[in-house]
Amino acid sequence: MTTITLVQGDITRQSVDAVVNAANSSLLGGGGVDGAIHRRGGPAILADCRRLRASQYGKGLPTGRAVATTAGELDARWVIHTVGPVYQGSGSDPALLASCYRASLEVADELGARTVAFPAVSTGAYGWPMADAARIAVEAVRAAETAVEEVRFVLFDEQAYRVFAELLR
Ligand code: ADP
Repeated sequence: MTTITLVQGDITRQSVDAVVNAANSSLLGGGGVDGAIHRRGGPAILADCRRLRASQYGKGLPTGRAVATTAGELDARWVIHTVGPVYQGSGSDPALLASCYRASLEVADELGARTVAFPAVSTGAYGWPMADAARIAVEAVRAAETAVEEVRFVLFDEQAYRVFAELLR
């Protein structure tokens, strides 16, 4: 049984087994959650990401997929990097966004992670409207068959928190 919890705050401050990063396919850093994770987590995360680029992800991590690295200095064991789709209006594919959650939970299961913190993937630089992205996120987590005990959505601002809280009511 997976419990979904909500926190308003900074995902880099969470004590969990795994923190999910809203990465981009280069795996080499960016803004938003990605920038915050690398800043607080330190260079060990980027070093792992570079190794992934030099090995199985030479062309980068495809959209909707997930891969783990060390969590460096974060209070977590792993960072699970996933690449959300860029919002393209009616041309957007919700299945790709759902896949980020499903794939991240699959990686969490492989690692044995029991508590996993997610940001609202694709809702920042990638532009996906919060209400729609939140519904997709919650449905994807509810539908997942996973041994993860707690999925914690960490929402940066109050408005995003309210959207998730309304869905989980
Ligand atoms: P994407 O490129 O997938 O859109 P972003 O990192 O730009 O990813 O934004 C994803 C969401 O995470 C946005 O709603 C943004 O407000 C939020 N966010 C940004 N920084 C943090 C943080 N430190 N902790 C939690 N959420 C954050």
